[in-house]
Amino acid sequence: MSAGRLTIERIGVVGAGTMGTGIALLSCLGRYATSIHDPDEAVLSAAQTTIGEALAEGADKRWTADEAEAASGRLRAAESLADLAGSDLVIEAAPEDLALKRRLFADLGSICGPETILATNTSSLRVAEIAAGAAHPEAIVGMHFFNPPVLMQLVEVVATEASSTAMLVAATEVAKEMGRTPIRAKDSPGFVANRLARPFSLESLRMLADGLADAPTIDRVVRIGGGFRMGPFELLDLIGLDVNLTIGRSLYEQGGRPERWRPSPIQERMVAEGRLGRKCGLGFYEYGTGRHRERDPDLGIEGPTLGAEELRRIDPAGPEIMLRLTAQIANEAAYALADEVASPADMNTAMRLGFNWPLGPLEFTGMIGADRAAALLDELRERLGDAYVPAPGLT
Ligand code: NAD
Repeated sequence: MSAGRLTIERIGVVGAGTMGTGIALLSCLGRYATSIHDPDEAVLSAAQTTIGEALAEGADKRWTADEAEAASGRLRAAESLADLAGSDLVIEAAPEDLALKRRLFADLGSICGPETILATNTSSLRVAEIAAGAAHPEAIVGMHFFNPPVLMQLVEVVATEASSTAMLVAATEVAKEMGRTPIRAKDSPGFVANRLARPFSLESLRMLADGLADAPTIDRVVRIGGGFRMGPFELLDLIGLDVNLTIGRSLYEQGGRPERWRPSPIQERMVAEGRLGRKCGLGFYEYGTGRHRERDPDLGIEGPTLGAEELRRIDPAGPEIMLRLTAQIANEAAYALADEVASPADMNTAMRLGFNWPLGPLEFTGMIGADRAAALLDELRERLGDAYVPAPGLT
């Protein structure tokens, strides 16, 4: 089984929420006979409608009308998990709850048999923990899609130590057939993109805590000088401070509580006060009528840049903001390389496609220079503590 090429024709999707619906849509477009299951009948029926409507809406724009019609014909609703017997691959997108996922994988193992690949879309649990106790741990992999799956190109194919190579290769091929860009990730905290994204919010929150600048200023510098589409605080407001904090706390614990991943007291306080971001009208910004920010002025700057003169045109603190952020992005990338979470090329792909970064993290390392980043981190460590311990590989 681990040697030959596996043929995937039938895909089962478990959980018909936000992610399951999007994944089933991609599966139909990828020409797979697709069965989607959800224990909630109303949710299951709504998902079928949503997929049908999305296929119709995208016709003549994202795909042809013929492709949409053919894709619709490949979808069926599975009333029970047992209806997924005979699938070549099952992708689980049920709630982020370890006990629930373990139960599901145990059930799927007996329903499907050892030749079926069982993939989880978990974003913060260890795949190996979900696989613990499964009859065939070699058949269990991660397929981590990003939200919304139909727009986000990245899929992290996550390998546990037990995952079969042939099954990982087959999952990677499926992601390609779905029109996505797969990368290979080690089963480690946050996998690749969510881990490498930590410094974007955490270092910005530390700069805010230090009083270096306020949130709108840091956002403006990061947008104009960093070339990011959104600043870190706007992004936190969009994602939801609570959602981001849950992921952050989980990574902090799984990683053995490294100081650089310690959740921000500012964020903890805001979440406790119910200032969760856009969804409740108040986060770092107030959302009511109209735009929450003015259009950025055209300063003739083409970010990403570390040019001090240019960055000072945005704000006097501009150079320090970009240097600190870039040094921490480079530092996390160096830690991730040391932990072998992914290849350098896959790390860059993950951040460009998973978070729309203008450059990959190792390209940011190239921009600042590893030595310069390490020297700055050493200096900051003396002043501000162990969140700034440089990764051994950086020096
Ligand atoms: P969701 O709440 O929108 O959907 C979960 C669905 O699972 C619901 O429809 C629910 O009825 C169903 N469900 C509940 N119990 C079930 C069971 N026993 N068997 C099968 N289905 C069951 O959640 P979501 O946002 O789609 O997230 C699903 C998974 O994808 C989670 O593991 C999450 O961490 C991961 N993920 C989410 C995002 C995101 O941005 N939403 C991104 C990447 C990964």
